[in-house]
Amino acid sequence: MRIVLVGPPGVGKGTQAALLQQRHGALHISSGDIFRAELKAETELGRLAKSYMERGELVPDDVTIRMMATRLDSPEVREKGFLLDGFPRTVAQAEALDEWFRQNGVRLDAVIALEVEDEEVVRRLSGRLTCRQCGAIYHRENHPPKVEGVCDACGGELIVRKDDQEETIRERLRVYHETTKPVVDYYERQGLVRRIEAREVESTYAKIKAALGL
Ligand code: AMP
Repeated sequence: MRIVLVGPPGVGKGTQAALLQQRHGALHISSGDIFRAELKAETELGRLAKSYMERGELVPDDVTIRMMATRLDSPEVREKGFLLDGFPRTVAQAEALDEWFRQNGVRLDAVIALEVEDEEVVRRLSGRLTCRQCGAIYHRENHPPKVEGVCDACGGELIVRKDDQEETIRERLRVYHETTKPVVDYYERQGLVRRIEAREVESTYAKIKAALGL
């Protein structure tokens, strides 16, 4: 299975990709997670990505494309297939991915476009809390920790990620509408897009499964 998941920040791409990985085996590859891991490990790539990420802007295409090509070239990915989450986010990235498909003699099965209104994104993301230590995610309203400010799983401190602050969320939405919508149009021309209204986790998952014929 080779699937691209697109949609605004906070729509639940990561959650759905994780479910698809658990239940169908293809690998969940999140460009945002890879950048955050590089940032945490203080690699050169992480340092380069940091300033863009903190401002809610996109990391430049050449850097992002090189990083994803390295990840996609691993034998495990070739064997199991993948669910791309957060990539491609620009038409240049989509073209680079198509080139990778051509070189590897494989095809994309579908593009799942998850949709939700902007105000709902702001509401969901501005309540998001992340554990500084283990990365577990909570929500002030929908999924609060047992003890305020403390991770249930590891006892670490819960913080609002800089890119989950309201001002940054609005900037990420602006960037999404401007640069990522054309990616959906690009795949629309290839007849690959399945549009899905994202609501609760399980009902959204059921709609994705139906769209993919699973
Ligand atoms: P995410 O968790 O997917 O929202 O990604 C967090 C941040 O990582 C984004 O706001 C960007 O700064 C950066 N990033 C993730 N994926 C990409 C991509 N495909 N192209 C450029 N920047 C990206």
